[in-house]
Amino acid sequence: MKKGLVALTLVGLMVGSVSSFASANSGYSWPVPDSKRITQKYGGAHKGIDIGGKRAGVAGDNVVSFYSGSVARAGWSTSYGWVVYVHHKIGSKNIQSRYAHLHLSPVVSVGQAVSSGTKLGIMGNTGQSQGVHLHFETRTCSGACKTDNSSTPFDPLANYFPGYKIAASASNILEADGHSAHHHDHSEVAEEEVFYSMEEINKMTSEERAAKGIPVK
Ligand SMILES: [Zn+2]
Repeated sequence: MKKGLVALTLVGLMVGSVSSFASANSGYSWPVPDSKRITQKYGGAHKGIDIGGKRAGVAGDNVVSFYSGSVARAGWSTSYGWVVYVHHKIGSKNIQSRYAHLHLSPVVSVGQAVSSGTKLGIMGNTGQSQGVHLHFETRTCSGACKTDNSSTPFDPLANYFPGYKIAASASNILEADGHSAHHHDHSEVAEEEVFYSMEEINKMTSEERAAKGIPVK
């Protein structure tokens, strides 16, 4: 009897530690820890998903890296607004993630190593955006990831967050990308997109920034 209890306890401990090990190391962090409200799904011309704020229209929710990696781009895009790209190695794949329309300039720098869940900035409504939301993209790179648009977008929900679904009230396109929310492709506007790195921005005078449409913060 005593032996049996010990054995049962051991099994229980093992099961317990295995399951907590698994969840702690699944590796994927939802990019907006405070809101699971998906306002626009991936597909068609939309190369990512849109996530609304904890309170609709209110900027400031933390935006975090969905996986460990290295910051590859941080700055201002005329399309994405304040934006961060992170490069990841997931299994044998080179993956890029993008976090767009941030409220203020990113809180991470190019080359910085980040963990899954490391804060990159806060949710906002900058660039070609028509309401506070995060535009989140995941892309497969052939070879090493680059910051151009040579990578191939794919649905982050199907691949990393299978339990997450678009919100029933997602018809509110005021929490989505600019133009028509249903016909928007960041890749299509890539030719026109102008990007400034934080390094470049930090050397500009406030007049130069204003002339280029870059917010002061
Ligand atoms: Zn979007």
